Amino acid sequence: MKDPKVEEYPILWLQCATCTGCSVSVLNTERPSIKNLLIDEMLPGKHLNLRYHATVMAGAGDAVIEEMRKVAQAKEGGYILVVEGAIPTAAEGEYGAIGEEGEKPIPMTAWVESLGRDALAVIALGTCAAFGGIPGGSPNPSGAQSVEKFFKSRNIATPLINIPGCPPHPDWFVGTVARVLISGLLR
Ligand code: SF4
Repeated sequence: MKDPKVEEYPILWLQCATCTGCSVSVLNTERPSIKNLLIDEMLPGKHLNLRYHATVMAGAGDAVIEEMRKVAQAKEGGYILVVEGAIPTAAEGEYGAIGEEGEKPIPMTAWVESLGRDALAVIALGTCAAFGGIPGGSPNPSGAQSVEKFFKSRNIATPLINIPGCPPHPDWFVGTVARVLISGLLR
């Protein structure tokens, strides 16, 4: 049963132009283990709740997309968005989509923009998300961009934390999240 004294921080984890190596790295965290990280209280009174992650969640299809929308609405300004991989921006985002609406693919650009605007904080995980990485290398036909560059192009001012590395060490992710939960966001 949910303890009302424990503060929940939902995590929505988008995988854009990624090889999934960043996820694999973080899932291999040892102290705490990924189980401790996601099931126990990360810090006394604070609990991370991974609500959307395409690689590890059991569900699929419209149901999980709907769940992601519901979490974002219910916890507007209170969820953490993790972006893994660069964002393909060319051809109005046609190079990468997550889910569908009215049988049309929803571009990754639309998700990063809408979820990024309303998040408590955004973590650009890995060199691809932080700086463009391999997908952003020349000639870059998909127009892959870092989260920072994408946010600037859309005037999104949500606090953004870059955790580069290819892949990033899991401690860098865990330590950063712990620091934010302990000290808040340094603006
Ligand atoms: S930063 Fe490296 S591990 Fe992460 S998505 Fe990019 S290529 Fe893969």
